[in-house]
Amino acid sequence: MSCLFCRIINREIPSKIAFENDRVLAFYDVNPQAPVHILIVPKRHIAGLNDITVKDNELLGEIQNIARELARRENIADDGYRVVVNCGANAGQAVAHLHYHLLGGRKFSWPPG
Ligand code: AMP
Ligand code: ZN
Repeated sequence: MSCLFCRIINREIPSKIAFENDRVLAFYDVNPQAPVHILIVPKRHIAGLNDITVKDNELLGEIQNIARELARRENIADDGYRVVVNCGANAGQAVAHLHYHLLGGRKFSWPPG
């Protein structure tokens, strides 16, 4: 299995885990871009947002609920935070396993770079 995030899910590569259930893993980004930077990923390999279907609606809804809960737990819910999915080359997606970035703890600019 060559996918980096599948290897993290399978514990072949260590990570600092923030949340886990049967369907979803959340772990701290190794190169954080904000005081709080967590990646939330489905355990099933989905390459990216281009590869989801309506059958994934429940899974994707669950991921957003986990983002909300982690934001509360990390004390960034009230001040605000950003949830980002990079899709494809123009967005700078570096790992081809769907992942939601949960970023918070500082003010973000808009538009993104
Ligand atoms: P993206 O550019 O949207 O594909 O994001 C990939 C993210 O994965 C980047 O923020 C990286 O810092 C992060 N990353 C890469 N390798 C690891 C790792 N071993 N553990 C945790 N995060 C990682
Ligand atoms: Zn994968």
